[in-house]
Amino acid sequence: MNKKETIAVYAGSFDPIHCGHIDIIQRISKLYDRVIVLLANSSQKKTLFSANERKVLIQQSLKGIKNVDVDVFSGLVVDYLKKRNAQVLIRGLRAVVDFEYEMSMANMNKKLSPEIETLLVFSSPEYYFLSSRGIKEIAMNQGSLKGLVTTQVEKALLKKYQ
Ligand code: ADP
Repeated sequence: MNKKETIAVYAGSFDPIHCGHIDIIQRISKLYDRVIVLLANSSQKKTLFSANERKVLIQQSLKGIKNVDVDVFSGLVVDYLKKRNAQVLIRGLRAVVDFEYEMSMANMNKKLSPEIETLLVFSSPEYYFLSSRGIKEIAMNQGSLKGLVTTQVEKALLKKYQ
């Protein structure tokens, strides 16, 4: 009997992707046959990088991981999961402040699609303080991004803020 491929979707804005995201992706890629990093393109969010720029940066930053794909989607994330026959929606958790937002999102998604599970993955201790917003703040003020983002992302940020 053929085993069904297990697919997890890690959704976010990734503006830009940083080492906290990459750590989560590396860890979940060991648990599922396939991981899709989904750039959820929301018209309500103003971003520094365009969807295509963010997609390319994600692809460049994840080069070493074989079972990971990157995709862009505008719409409800649960609809994307249904379309791809994915069972699990991954979100990362840093501090308690993330919890309330993630819990209400998970409950809303459960209401929309009871068959889809949200899995919250704790940030590794070395990345719990990292956020895309913080990364942009550092870049804007010419601070060091060493160990926080990949060199491709660092270069792209320098270009934006030069
Ligand atoms: P959002 O979709 O809320 O804009 P992001 O694109 O910044 O969020 O991040 C996508 C997901 O990664 C979210 O679930 C977020 O909580 C999580 N995340 C962000 N930064 C980190 C980090 N440093 N460690 C672990 N998870 C993180």
